Parts: sequence; structure tokens; C-alpha cells
Amino acid sequence: MKQRSLVMAYVFATSSVSTLMGGFVACGAQSYRISVHGETADKIDRPNTQSSGSNLSSGSLPGVHSASGWKRSLPIRFVTSDEIESAVVKQLQTAMKTWEMAVGKPLFAYDGVEAKKGADFRQLYEPLSDSKNGNYFDHNWFGATGKPNSVLATTIWENSPQESSSITKADIRYNAEFYVFGNSLDEFSEGKRTIVDMESLAVHELGHLLGLTHVKETEDRFSVMNPSLFIGEGMITRRLSKGDIVRIRSIYGIGDPTLAQALEKADDAADGADSADQTRM
Ligand SMILES: [Zn+2]
Repeated sequence: MKQRSLVMAYVFATSSVSTLMGGFVACGAQSYRISVHGETADKIDRPNTQSSGSNLSSGSLPGVHSASGWKRSLPIRFVTSDEIESAVVKQLQTAMKTWEMAVGKPLFAYDGVEAKKGADFRQLYEPLSDSKNGNYFDHNWFGATGKPNSVLATTIWENSPQESSSITKADIRYNAEFYVFGNSLDEFSEGKRTIVDMESLAVHELGHLLGLTHVKETEDRFSVMNPSLFIGEGMITRRLSKGDIVRIRSIYGIGDPTLAQALEKADDAADGADSADQTRM
């Protein structure tokens, strides 16, 4: 715990420097629903999840876009493109564990490496056309996704036509054209490509994949679902806030309370460290 606090102190100390340098980057999560009228499936862009609260179905908690999530199809089977090296896949899996600890149950199951690459998809939603939930690196980011260069990654998902609060498929695409993904505590930016902490980014994108929207900094400044993320060497946001835990449990409940309690304990200890660091900013 002691060691973790020291790391957090470093992160918060350098984050103010990064703000001055403009290292503040947005995420561009999006979903679409297929309406099955006639022979062609229409892709309907939903309002972006950037603003929490305004486009939620009635009765769902703020910060949640799909109130049933994947509850009917757990665990979520996923693959990783073969261009994602195994160390980075491990960081993705660590991020998955973070969410699993919060709900005290397995959420994900790894189906291994997928031969397809980001470059195989010409259009943002194309990865949803197969049955695999994939993670892809895009080296032609704007060309393939239409998203600005500053966007780190995007999660796309499809809701069930029968039950719009359920998610049936999802993919995560990473902007490998402008960023390097790895462990930002011991890896570096490469030329114009800034290092992004894969575990931190994956915690955020997996939040979308599981059913969460963005949460504004003014509502919960420790949430991993804040729309922007500090990036660069030493910058990490790997830990869920208390609010994140409440929101994810509103979808998935709690399986094994022992696992969930372990996370809460760690969270309490680290919260103390955060407040001390914040005052120094
Ligand atoms: Zn996002």
C-alpha cells in the first residue's frame, strides 16, 4: 500500500505539468443499434455518451448507458488482434480484473489471438459485423474510424434489438497511429507517439463496454470514467472510484463479497493518499 501511495503521488505531481503541456485527451465511445426493418440493417448512431445523464433511459442510474449490460451472456468472450503484444494483453487483462473485483465475479473470458488487424476494417463500426468482441490497434486512425487524432481509443457496441438495455457485442479500437500503449511507469513515448498507460485506458474503455457512460470530473473527479485521461510517462488512472464501484454494481450486482471487500479496503487506503496529494497540486 505504501508503495502504491508513492506512485500516486508521482502521478498527481506530474499531472499539473501535463495540463500545461496540453496532455489532456478525450475518449470517443459510441454505440449503435441495429433496427431490423426490411432487409437492410440500418445503423443508427445514438447520441454520444460524452454527456452523462441527458440520454439515459428512465430509471437507470446516471453514468449507465445499458442497465442490463451483458448480464444474460456472461462471461464476455473476447479476442485480441495479433498486433497487440502479449505484455499489453496482460495489461488489458489486469484492467478486466479490476472490474471483476468490483463485482466479485468473472466478467471476461479470453478466446486468444485474432488474425485480423485494425487495418482490416475500413469503417468505424465494421468490427461489429463479426461475432467476436475484439481489441484492435489502428495505425490509420482517422481514415478507419473518422475520429480526431487526439482520441485515444473508441469502444463500439451493439444493443439487443429485443432488449435495448442489453449489450450483445462490442469491440475496442486503439489509436496506435498517434499513441504507444504500454506500462507508462516504465515505458516511454516514441517520437510523436505519446505513451499511454494501457491498463488505465483499458479500465476506461472496458467501463463503456460493460455499460457505463462518462462521468464528469465535477461529479466524481476520481472516476475512471472521466471523459479525459492524463497521458505520458508516469501517468496512470488504474483504480476505480467509490462511485465507479456503485455504478458497475448497479448493473452486475455482487457475486463473491470477499473479492468485492478486498477492493473496497484497497480503495479506502488509497483515497487517503489521493486527498493528501491533491492538496499539493
Ligand atoms: Zn470514454
